[in-house]
Amino acid sequence: MSYGIRKDFYNSKAWKIARKNIWIKQNLLCNRCHKPVYVDGLSEWIPKEKRRTGIVHHKEYLNNINVYDDNITLNEDNLEGLCKECHELEHHQDQVTRKDYMFDSDGNLIKKD
Ligand SMILES: [Zn+2]
Ligand SMILES: [Zn+2]
Repeated sequence: MSYGIRKDFYNSKAWKIARKNIWIKQNLLCNRCHKPVYVDGLSEWIPKEKRRTGIVHHKEYLNNINVYDDNITLNEDNLEGLCKECHELEHHQDQVTRKDYMFDSDGNLIKKD
């Protein structure tokens, strides 16, 4: 996984706009638990203690190939606004069920070879 490429994408203006549009569409609510999230410049009305960190998730996970494909990276149908907690859950579940990973006897997630 090339961190450099991914970082460039997440810093791009197009991504920032797409991300903002998703939150506007979802009324600043997490798509799963429906709790309000904080989005820079949009969530000032939400009391600080109720704000959760919001992350826009790619339903089809990004990799070094599809990160160049706007139909994946910026397609609203592939995007889902989640709070940090729901986002972590999503990725954790994916890791656990992925076929190329397994738990060792100590309960650590390891790559199958
Ligand atoms: Zn949530
Ligand atoms: Zn994600």
